[in-house]
Amino acid sequence: MVVLSGKEVANSKLEELKSKTQSFIEKYNRKPTLAVILVGEDPASQTYVASKKKACIKLGYGHKDYVLDKEVTQKELNSLVDALNEDNSVDGILVQMPLPKHLNEQEVIERIRSDKDVDGFHPINVGKLLIGLDCFVSCTPKGIMAILDYYHIETQSKNVVIIGRSNIVGKPMASLLIQKGRDATVTIAHSRTKNLKELTKSADILIAAIGRANFVTADMVKEDCVVIDVGINRVEDSSRKRGYRVVGDVDYQNVSAKVSAITPVPGGVGLMTIAMLMENTLESAIMHEEKDN
Ligand code: NAD
Repeated sequence: MVVLSGKEVANSKLEELKSKTQSFIEKYNRKPTLAVILVGEDPASQTYVASKKKACIKLGYGHKDYVLDKEVTQKELNSLVDALNEDNSVDGILVQMPLPKHLNEQEVIERIRSDKDVDGFHPINVGKLLIGLDCFVSCTPKGIMAILDYYHIETQSKNVVIIGRSNIVGKPMASLLIQKGRDATVTIAHSRTKNLKELTKSADILIAAIGRANFVTADMVKEDCVVIDVGINRVEDSSRKRGYRVVGDVDYQNVSAKVSAITPVPGGVGLMTIAMLMENTLESAIMHEEKDN
């Protein structure tokens, strides 16, 4: 059984980006720059935003951080996005989700200019991805493809089952895998799927993006399956100082004993997501420079 180490793949990607960033700075005399907007004080969001800032610093990117009051109006948030859209020193704009209930997430996603949408959530990028055009690809599915490539896991003619149909994981994951060159046969399962175990047992590659701790059990996978665990779930653990530990959607202990390869949680897909955000930001910066010259 191979442990698919997101940590190893992410570190190798970050090293590559660090050197490409140096070349970018030397060539264009400026840093690739990411603007991150956080609304409110959600602790998980604060952690995600802090790790994005840390990654920017580590790679030598510029970063602009905005923390808005949880009562901010849609109009105020939109105005900040508009200003960043117009700011030529900014290559990528990210609004940390989820937003407080009174704000319209889709409106914000569509407000970000598609050529600065490094999260790959804008309908233009989602549509381009589906029809196989160059675009910003949602970071988690892009990171999963990078893990498969790094470990030379072939997708051609494989049965891939994705559990979860979210716009940020399940749907873009399917879009990537069905493209020519990837050539997988993809099934997307979701909360209304009836014969889930039957489907998952047919999977050569199983991707779990559900958000439920230990949902995928050993009886749901066939031997030699490759398992990608996207889940990030907190479960109580009084032996830990912080009172919880993080587990995936897969019962790692029992499933890993049966399958040919699996991503751990932590140390798997999660680390790839930030690495891909950094890659998208550098790609955006290069695109902006090439367009202007
Ligand atoms: P979501 O809540 O938007 O979607 C969950 C999906 O699971 C839904 O499509 C739903 O239909 C499906 N589902 C729920 N119960 C089911 C059931 N009983 N059977 C089959 N399908 C079922 O979730 P999301 O945003 O895609 O995130 C999924 C998980 O991945 C979460 O734990 C999240 O924290 C994690 N996540 C991790 C990363 C990362 O960087 N590793 C990124 C995004 C999300």
